[in-house]
Amino acid sequence: MNVLLIGSGGREHALAWKISQSSSLGVLYAAPGNPGIAAHAECVKLDPADHAAVIAFCGEKEIGLVVVGPEAPLVDGLADALSEAGIKVFGPTKAAAQLEGSKGFTKDLCARYEIPTGAYRRFTDGEEAKAYVGEIGAPIVIKADGLAAGKGVTVARTNAEALAAIDDCFSGTFGAAGAEVVVEEFLVGEEASFFCLSDGKNALPLATAQDHKAVGDGDTGPNTGGMGAYSPAPVMDEAMIARTMKEIIEPTIRGMAEIGHPFKGVLYAGLMITEKGPELIEYNVRFGDPECQVLMMRLQSDLLDILEAAADGTLDKVSAAWSEDTALTVVMAAKGYPGSYKKGSEIRALPADGPEARTFHAGTAMRDGKLVASGGRVLNVTALGHNVTEAQTRAYTLIEDIDWSDGFCRRDIGWRAVAREEG
Ligand code: AMP
Repeated sequence: MNVLLIGSGGREHALAWKISQSSSLGVLYAAPGNPGIAAHAECVKLDPADHAAVIAFCGEKEIGLVVVGPEAPLVDGLADALSEAGIKVFGPTKAAAQLEGSKGFTKDLCARYEIPTGAYRRFTDGEEAKAYVGEIGAPIVIKADGLAAGKGVTVARTNAEALAAIDDCFSGTFGAAGAEVVVEEFLVGEEASFFCLSDGKNALPLATAQDHKAVGDGDTGPNTGGMGAYSPAPVMDEAMIARTMKEIIEPTIRGMAEIGHPFKGVLYAGLMITEKGPELIEYNVRFGDPECQVLMMRLQSDLLDILEAAADGTLDKVSAAWSEDTALTVVMAAKGYPGSYKKGSEIRALPADGPEARTFHAGTAMRDGKLVASGGRVLNVTALGHNVTEAQTRAYTLIEDIDWSDGFCRRDIGWRAVAREEG
């Protein structure tokens, strides 16, 4: 089967690497891909927003499955357009992608199906939102309803901060995404990410991960798309996974089918493990980046067969096997990120890939035969180990082999789990 993978980040490099190992694969194409992906796929210039062009390409290359990596094309209806054209696609419809595209939609679904999550109210009027903050008081969480590239959430420690965040949203900082605001209860606990697949009826649990969003060591400084991650998440033991499936994932799949938007694709639950148990912070409708990289390092099954089963509605016929090892990834970013940074500096050397470690490319490009940085997050150095400490040591040792003067990374990815291991 020929496959078209949409995307160009480290997440898609990890997916391309895994799909390329499938015994069911004919030719793998990636649009637009990146220099790392080019080792496993034929990279093609194709704009995912141009649905007609994607459909024409699929016809020409006899694509049997389209795998959509990022959320934007899903929220934009690419899966709908492909399905209508009779092309098989892994990824939710536009209506089902509202689980990520509208925080208010997800909260309403939780309320309707009694899925544990923080108490909330939705507002289209700033003054009403502020009055509610006055009633509940800080700490409180203010969220722009729509997609805001990970920047639409303020965890407000004071009422003043919450009021400022409300003004910010309604003043248009996040464009249409901020036209509605969700004000939410502040949840206390440890965060974890839980990844499942769904085919609209069945849910297949994949694996757990924890990530580091803040740019600086000790989880300080502004938030980023993610500076590193590890899998599994120690806080998600078997009992917690079973509860999450029963209390959160299964009612979501059932609810989405019942309201006429069956969910097919990756269901990525951002959880807070509170004293009461798992509570939903948010859903994403695609793999996390960089969480996907650590998941793919641990996956032992044929990824393409699993993704196809999700698209076909036969997820109950497949299973996913995982390495017992821990995988940890460290993001190398361009100096200045998440603020302004320079593009185009040369990356002269990369660590060698092997069975226990791989470097995935995110924002890289080839210019005049040289590998250069072309984005904020540039490389994901990913290693396996018997525990978090070993995976962390291996990843940071490999980073020494990178020759790129404009890059930096956090030096403490996995610190919480390492401290636990050290007892
Ligand atoms: P999100 O973009 O929804 O993942 O939110 C970004 C981050 O804000 C999360 O990873 C949490 O650390 C934090 N957060 C979001 N909602 C809550 C909440 N209700 N209580 C506490 N922290 C939250």
